[in-house]
Amino acid sequence: MKKLGFGLMRLPKLDKDDESSVEYEQVDKMAETFMKNGFNYFDTAYIYHQGRSEVAFKHAVTDHYPRESFIIADKMPLPFINKDEQLENIFQDQLERLGVDYIDYYLMHNVCESSEDGYLNGKTYEFLKQKKEEGYIKHLGFSAHDSAEYVEEFIKQNPGMEFIQLQINYLDWENNVLQARKCYEVAQKYNLPIVVMEPLKGGFLVNVPKEAEKLMCEYNGQPPIQWALRYVAGLPGVFMVLSGMSSYDQLKENIEIFDDIKPLNDEEHEIIKKVVEIINNNIAVECTGCNYCLSSCPENIVIPELFQIYNHQMIQNTDNFTAYGNAYINYAKSGEHGLAGDCIKCQACIPKCPQHINIPEELVKVRDTFEIPLYGFNQQEE
Ligand code: SF4
Ligand code: SF4
Repeated sequence: MKKLGFGLMRLPKLDKDDESSVEYEQVDKMAETFMKNGFNYFDTAYIYHQGRSEVAFKHAVTDHYPRESFIIADKMPLPFINKDEQLENIFQDQLERLGVDYIDYYLMHNVCESSEDGYLNGKTYEFLKQKKEEGYIKHLGFSAHDSAEYVEEFIKQNPGMEFIQLQINYLDWENNVLQARKCYEVAQKYNLPIVVMEPLKGGFLVNVPKEAEKLMCEYNGQPPIQWALRYVAGLPGVFMVLSGMSSYDQLKENIEIFDDIKPLNDEEHEIIKKVVEIINNNIAVECTGCNYCLSSCPENIVIPELFQIYNHQMIQNTDNFTAYGNAYINYAKSGEHGLAGDCIKCQACIPKCPQHINIPEELVKVRDTFEIPLYGFNQQEE
């Protein structure tokens, strides 16, 4: 099996502000090229694109290819489960949206402290084990965004897990909060095959600081994206690396990289250590752009978009606001969304964030970086 999985969470959209406006024809074309090149693993979830990700998969894959030629992974949305009856309804919805009568890899989605209501009474696990016995699920696993200790405890309490999906990339490897290395070691200890998510940290590792990019390119001529993907694909125990692809060009680039992917050598690992140091000296907010926080914000602030603009500004390490100041102005101009300074610090977004970012605290910095220099006002005085 080739190791690149098509993550269906950042699909091309007709309207950038409407998650459900998936550009189906473009996804069809991307899936066709993906399959033609010998790749066949797709990863979706009930919540991606407000349910349209699963629909887009059917449109692009199920409707065109024999069932045994592709592999689909889908997930039970633990943070939304508060009644046992939901389990059957959601599962049936998923089979229908995907157009399949079984799911190859099925995950309990986003196992962490804030989603405990969705699984702690054990009913979700029992329900999914039953579905597996009935043949509707081929392999049962889970995705996690918590500490290694928490992940290990979950494995002990749910011994039927056959695989695990973890956020692993070179920047998070030694991060004390995200604990990529420690979680990876737990997976290895329990012999759980690993699916890697966020190998590029939501695209962040594609545009690293110039100084880091230079180190990589001067060594072997390869761009940062190739280094990041080679890093995770080379880890023992990793059987799939997901990339959330948003355009045909991204897909082509990933296919080329994975066609003949090789692990990093020792010298390259040493260079990665220096790259991490450079990035950590520049990175402002470790947002992956997963959008989990969006629906919680009463001020309708598009939090990941503001963090993305802010991170790019910080990485440029300049007081010149031309490039990213304009991006901020364009965001503000639409008038439909709250600005960083509109944050009322209600904290509703914090438990939603798998990266454990103190969002209101970071938004104050975003506000101070853009709104005061650009507009000369400070909407929410401390
Ligand atoms: S703390 Fe700020 S960003 Fe977070 S949900 Fe409340 S208003 Fe929105
Ligand atoms: S702030 Fe957190 S929850 Fe929101 S998009 Fe970024 S990583 Fe995801």
